[in-house]
Amino acid sequence: MKVLRQDYDYPIFLNADHTHSLASAENAARAGFDSIVFDRSELPFAQNISETKKAVEALKSINPLILVEGEIGEIGTGSEIHEEAPQGLTLTTTEEAKEFAAATGIDILAPAVGNTHGLSRSMIRGEAQKRLDIDRIAQIRKATGLFMTLHGASGTNDDDLSRAIRAGITEIHINTEVRLAWRRGLETAFAKERDQVVPYKLLPAAVDAMKQVVSARLSLFNRK
Ligand SMILES: [Zn+2]
Repeated sequence: MKVLRQDYDYPIFLNADHTHSLASAENAARAGFDSIVFDRSELPFAQNISETKKAVEALKSINPLILVEGEIGEIGTGSEIHEEAPQGLTLTTTEEAKEFAAATGIDILAPAVGNTHGLSRSMIRGEAQKRLDIDRIAQIRKATGLFMTLHGASGTNDDDLSRAIRAGITEIHINTEVRLAWRRGLETAFAKERDQVVPYKLLPAAVDAMKQVVSARLSLFNRK
């Protein structure tokens, strides 16, 4: 990471996504990660608060500049293809967000505002999209003043993403879209060159497919 920063003179940061224990979060902090997602959202709210508060203290004592992210509400698991989109997930309330932010001392909040990890088959077919609760994002932002991450943003309506950024989202995760592009890039290369066995001639297709997704998303996210 340090070499990449030096060579490209570009702000690149390393984020430890979804650590589920203090031990793994501390390992990531010691390894030099710039930010850590400490995800104990499956616990009851009070326990999530006490564990996250402890993690913030422990991680900042390893690196005072590290950013710690906490998570409340349900956003499903797995950056992968799901048969069906999960239903009935509990969204984050403004009151919870305010209490959680004040009690834990986190730098970044990951709320549940209509986002879910992974993509469903109907989303891949282009028949469905995730829709976000923009008012909720704006209210949580106002109540906490924190940076906010939108996890599980793959397959979200473009206009919702632009509005979510204006409402206070500062970081967006689209891992499943990138993974899907990787797989399709490889499939296309294999189908096109059936007798090709040279890895470095086949594998760039996966990288090119991922680049296309990332650059399209970056241009949307940076649109004024
Ligand atoms: Zn996530």
